[in-house]
Amino acid sequence: MDYKKLLDGAYQELPEKAKEKTRFKMPSFESFIQGKETIIKNFANVANDLRRDPNHLMKFLFKELATVGSFNGSRLILKGRFRDIELNKRLDYYTKTYVLCPACGKPDTQLVHQGGVLFIRCEACGARSPVPVMK
Ligand SMILES: [Zn+2]
Repeated sequence: MDYKKLLDGAYQELPEKAKEKTRFKMPSFESFIQGKETIIKNFANVANDLRRDPNHLMKFLFKELATVGSFNGSRLILKGRFRDIELNKRLDYYTKTYVLCPACGKPDTQLVHQGGVLFIRCEACGARSPVPVMK
């Protein structure tokens, strides 16, 4: 029995995803206040980095901040004045709840609706965990 060969074989069978070290940098909003509105300059980029539907992230913010708003190109305009730190606190919460896998902590996930329940499905470890549904 060639023990060394066995070990090599076992290593090769590891899925590619498990071997690569992914370093996920949490994105953050860049915003400024203009009159009675708050403009998030990089809203579309953040949604893209998180691989989430901008509409989902927008609805989340509206609910959390109890406000409304609209898209303007890649920007999001919010009614009301919100500080950068407040917005990014919400974004961190969103990322932890709707983006990072609760089992392995990786961001390679998708949101899937199934039987009226929203799940976060992880492409890295295969875990599927229910997440709170936004009303
Ligand atoms: Zn996972």
